[in-house]
Amino acid sequence: MRPGDTVEVLDAAGRRLAKAAWSPKSQIRARVWTFDADEIIDDAFFKRRVAAALARREALPEVAGQDGMRLIHGESDGLPGVIADRYGDTICLQLTAAGADRWRKAIVGALVKVTGVARIYERSDSDVRKLEGLEPTTGWVHGEAPLEALSIDENGVRLGVDVVGGHKTGFYLDQRDNRLRTRALAKGKSVLNCFCYTGGFSLQALAGGAVSVLSIDSSGPALAGAQANMALNPQLDASRAEWLETDVFEALRTFRKEGRRFDLIVLDPPKFAPSSAHAERAARAYKDINLHGFRLLNPGGYLLTYSCSGGIGLELFQKIVAGAAVDAGRDARILQRLSAGPDHPVALHFPEGEYLKGLLVQAD
Ligand code: SAH
Repeated sequence: MRPGDTVEVLDAAGRRLAKAAWSPKSQIRARVWTFDADEIIDDAFFKRRVAAALARREALPEVAGQDGMRLIHGESDGLPGVIADRYGDTICLQLTAAGADRWRKAIVGALVKVTGVARIYERSDSDVRKLEGLEPTTGWVHGEAPLEALSIDENGVRLGVDVVGGHKTGFYLDQRDNRLRTRALAKGKSVLNCFCYTGGFSLQALAGGAVSVLSIDSSGPALAGAQANMALNPQLDASRAEWLETDVFEALRTFRKEGRRFDLIVLDPPKFAPSSAHAERAARAYKDINLHGFRLLNPGGYLLTYSCSGGIGLELFQKIVAGAAVDAGRDARILQRLSAGPDHPVALHFPEGEYLKGLLVQAD
């Protein structure tokens, strides 16, 4: 038997429970393809799963009309180890488990057949592949590189997507609805966007009528992407935007010393805790940025604060943010809990799929 081959899962009494992909190197020894133990895992299975995933999204009006959408969200779409993000007629595919890797051809074939996209880029270079004993692999697996740079329309703002060199699959689709939420709050506000990447939150804030938007990221290439995004949107007032290449932890302290204040602050840091083993250190990092965020907020200001760490649950995250408010001496309340959009569903049997949590907090 080879890694990724299909096995039957039996209960203690020997009853057949499921069909799964075998992964001898991983702590997760088998990932379930189907709880129907009689279902056959073949090309047709993957076509059914991909078609169902697409139909789920097409039934949601706010997702169906989007250029950019997560088409397959792993376990929650019945395809563990498969991430497929669609950007117009390009799909970026990430395979992170032995079973998904073994069925690459069937998955690519199903995506082409079901969606009719022109091209698919495989971006299987995520570190988690190591845990499955898989080598990184990247490249065009269907069609060829597009002649023009790839971009999507996200609710009226054009945003470039670099599937080859960008983070993850090129873009953070999971924050689409929250960027729109920010836009709705931004009118007349001074905005600080921390960990801005290519400026998605910043551009939506400008589109919403922010008077100023200061964006920070420590990555030069990310900020170059943000500049390119500004140029793609001549309808926005670029003179209201300022970009800073620096460390957020330091910048927040500097702003405090300078007595700077903002009306709306976005904190969307990278995954500080990839697993629960990192939770304690991560909790300190979240506490630090949220504490400094609260200190920089004008009275009545909004904090949109996120964690995409699987190792930090919503309850703990809320406690960390609450502690930060107390330490900053601010009275504050949660107006809304935020999460990834409905193109990132969470299967009820897989609560771990809900990795992104956010809070819209208003401070007195
Ligand atoms: N909000 C973005 C996604 C943020 S991803 C969006 O909507 O698209 C996290 C970003 O944090 C990355 O761009 C990374 O370069 C940046 N980053 C990581 N550590 C940082 C630090 N200490 N200071 C500043 N930026 C940092």
